[in-house]
Amino acid sequence: MTETIEFQAEARQLLQLMIHSIYSDKDVFLRELVSNASDALDKVRLASYVDKDVAVETDDLHIELVTDAEQRTLTVRDNGIGMTREEVVDLIGTIAKSGTAEMLAKMREAESAGSKEQTAELIGQFGIGFYSSFMVAERVEMTTRKAGTAEGVHWESTGEGTYTLEPVPDAPQGTAITVHLKPEDAEDALHDYANPDTVRRIVKRYSDFITWPIRLNPGEEEGSQEPINSRKALWARPQSDVTAEEYAEFYRHVSHDWQEPLETMRLSAEGTFEYQALLFLPSHAPMDLFMREHKRGVQLYVKRVFVMDDCEALVPEYLRFVKGVVDAQDLSLNVSREILQQDRQIQMIRKRLVRKVLQTIAAMQENEPEKYATFWRELGRAVKEGLLSDHDNQKAILDICSFPSTHSADEPTTLAAYKQRMPEGQDTIYYATGDSRSGLENSPHLEAFRAKGYEVLLLTDPVDEVWVDVVTEFDGTPLASVAKGEVDLGDETETPEGFDDLLSWMGTELAEEVKEVRLSSRLTTSPACLVGDPGDLTPTLEKMYRAMGQ
Ligand code: ADP
Ligand code: MG
Repeated sequence: MTETIEFQAEARQLLQLMIHSIYSDKDVFLRELVSNASDALDKVRLASYVDKDVAVETDDLHIELVTDAEQRTLTVRDNGIGMTREEVVDLIGTIAKSGTAEMLAKMREAESAGSKEQTAELIGQFGIGFYSSFMVAERVEMTTRKAGTAEGVHWESTGEGTYTLEPVPDAPQGTAITVHLKPEDAEDALHDYANPDTVRRIVKRYSDFITWPIRLNPGEEEGSQEPINSRKALWARPQSDVTAEEYAEFYRHVSHDWQEPLETMRLSAEGTFEYQALLFLPSHAPMDLFMREHKRGVQLYVKRVFVMDDCEALVPEYLRFVKGVVDAQDLSLNVSREILQQDRQIQMIRKRLVRKVLQTIAAMQENEPEKYATFWRELGRAVKEGLLSDHDNQKAILDICSFPSTHSADEPTTLAAYKQRMPEGQDTIYYATGDSRSGLENSPHLEAFRAKGYEVLLLTDPVDEVWVDVVTEFDGTPLASVAKGEVDLGDETETPEGFDDLLSWMGTELAEEVKEVRLSSRLTTSPACLVGDPGDLTPTLEKMYRAMGQ
């Protein structure tokens, strides 16, 4: 019995983009399918460790690639975890990735602006995974059976709106994906994916580090059982042996990002708590960075065996964009997330990992200012959350922060640089918080500071409203808002006389709206401004709370 099912709307749109592929490097579809197969093998091995009773086969876990020049197909087969019928519908027929709607909106913008490069770049940032097979396929077939279940399912689609599903009683464990290649690619020998040489080349280039054996057309000739990948875990190889290209491909595999990493970091420790780590900073913000269900990017391995994705015990929330692998020697394989949070070894690793990341950013700031600028533009908003949550590292975080200021229209400043510019007599770092730079620049609060030649930080990220309440000083210099309380600008002006009647009249008239009306020395051209008490919520925070219904 065959059922025909419609793709979810977002999935349909993405498939259209794939079919009329604008992404220049089509070879990457194979990297994506092999990456999924590798994940599926990781999962089945883990399942067998965690639950010894499930009927899963783990004897000869591997990936097989089969080319058929006559039928013009390429099949990627794994004997991994597989999918149930429901999972096929949810994972393949639907795009569950957070940020999809946002990305599609950006893509439509790019398209209506006629920018093909920009659309391709957005695809790269999002990562399309399984759907990338439709860049080269006129039709894709998939047969899959979930490990431990009895019946498999066959999926098939041309990518045009619908797919079909059909039960398969005797499917082997795992997933086989057959790509029926578009005829036009046959003429281009380099990109003829039904040619074993092409496939070998792509695997070498993109998937060499995959630790599962990848076999090409096994059984066809002598030696064809031999894996075509070298299978070495990159984090266990001497650092000098691994090329930047290899790191980049590994980064793509763990991060599901299509871009290159901005920075690669290696860490290791020997002795009682032995571990190795390979970590990356991305070159752009992940789509889900500010979504509620965002993921953290570090995988936990125990002695080369994959244990879990998004290991939140290993990285604090504010470094959720860090990707990579930690391979620990002395942990149980079926450790739970809850237990990990309490584990002393994990806490130590986390501490070092945080320090390493902060040091790496500091070094980038020092030695590669452009790279740092990219990093900060993309990810600074997340890093600043650490000012609130990571007390131990507050100083280190403040050091790597930079903020827009009245000093320069386009270059943000560090607090250290701000301090160096402070004129004689200024003993406080001043900031203003609000929605936009232009709004702040025109605010009457800034007048007196401008008149005195004092620089003011212009903080416009929502998180800025919050950390400024916690961070009261930098390196011995207090931080103060230009909009709060008694800003002492050190002017010894005489209080002008004769305003008492006016002030008391205004105080009565405005009793419902304000606490007090007083004379100010902080204005130069504007007649009046509103200020808060030192402990008050800022206007933006007030707005935020109101929006949240509080
Ligand atoms: P991603 O790998 O980034 O999650 P993909 O589009 O590549 O996105 O795959 C979507 C999901 O489909 C995967 O997360 C996985 O759950 C499932 N999947 C894809 N390929 C396989 C496979 N070979 N075996 C088992 N599950 C798979
Ligand atoms: Mg994938």
